[in-house]
Amino acid sequence: MNFKYYNPVKIDFGIGSLERLSQWIGNRKALLITSNGFEERGVVASVKEKNPMITRVINNIQPNPTLEQLEVLYKELEFESFDVIVALGGGSVIDIAKALSIYKEKSSDEPFKLIENMLFNGYQSDEILYKPIIAIPTTAGTGSEVTPWGTIWDDVNKKKYSIHTDKLWCEVAICDPALTLTLPKELTIQTGLDALSHCLESLWNVNASPLTSNYATNAILKIVDVLPRLVNNLDDINLRSEMMLASLKAGLAFSNTQTAIAHAMSYYMTLHKDIPHGIAASITLPDILNVALTNAELKLDLQKCFGENPVEILNKLFGALHVTTSYTEYGLTELDFSLIKESLSQTSRAKNSLIDSNILFENISNKIRN
Ligand SMILES: [Zn+2]
Repeated sequence: MNFKYYNPVKIDFGIGSLERLSQWIGNRKALLITSNGFEERGVVASVKEKNPMITRVINNIQPNPTLEQLEVLYKELEFESFDVIVALGGGSVIDIAKALSIYKEKSSDEPFKLIENMLFNGYQSDEILYKPIIAIPTTAGTGSEVTPWGTIWDDVNKKKYSIHTDKLWCEVAICDPALTLTLPKELTIQTGLDALSHCLESLWNVNASPLTSNYATNAILKIVDVLPRLVNNLDDINLRSEMMLASLKAGLAFSNTQTAIAHAMSYYMTLHKDIPHGIAASITLPDILNVALTNAELKLDLQKCFGENPVEILNKLFGALHVTTSYTEYGLTELDFSLIKESLSQTSRAKNSLIDSNILFENISNKIRN
């Protein structure tokens, strides 16, 4: 049994933990990055009032941040005007905050070239500097607050990029379940299923370790139990807390394994069919689970969380959430899946998978045909 595990993110978890933001900021000048909804609901005004060190706000981050949006924001940033970034929002906000944290002291090039170079070519250099990030997730699903990478979408060329460096860990993750109370039902379901996908992806993963699998199996048990109850009781703060903790554990698991085949397959669905990330990354889970159960070691782990008949329990969960796993209902055809299969060679995430993809794609074709 040999493994390494590393995660340097400080975690401040609990109802009301947002009140401790000023302690984490200290006497540093802060840039707040968030999305429109929080401005409209008055959250931004209240956070600013309690945190006078926040001197600038960017409040227009859209879901699935694109290269174009990143470029506009990046060119407007004055890196000397702040010392720390506070990212308040879902995965999109935290991901774009990561890209905006990157800079060089002196750069002869056009500044955005640096980011493009990192996104397109994986460029890294000791001269690259990073502003620290305080992440405040407002969904229970992304895990981005505890991972060292961020995703940027190119909706023109239909590509998904990620920046991944060992300097991209957030300084702190403030996980306040009260912030998820206003999350609508659909987003609660989507982000909850994304968290479930992160758990499963860290299990059927070449990088899995006893620690990551422990976090993952523990979180799966919780999600299967809590998510269906939560969608019928969106105001229940205890259920919100349980989901946030499960999502955090999922994040701690896949922060050290990365995702795998379900995510690798999902990017095509999001880019070409506009299927939201949490749905795209989870509707293949029952089919992948079926193949995973043919692996004796995985079967043991999976039965630990789902009981004797994992696929049945997982299908029951989708049923309770009223999320269909019928591909045709999402407009996905056999042709789409052959393109998805082709696209796997371009994503590193597919290489993490312990799943026999030939059997998986054959099963999916059969399912679509019948
Ligand atoms: Zn995901």
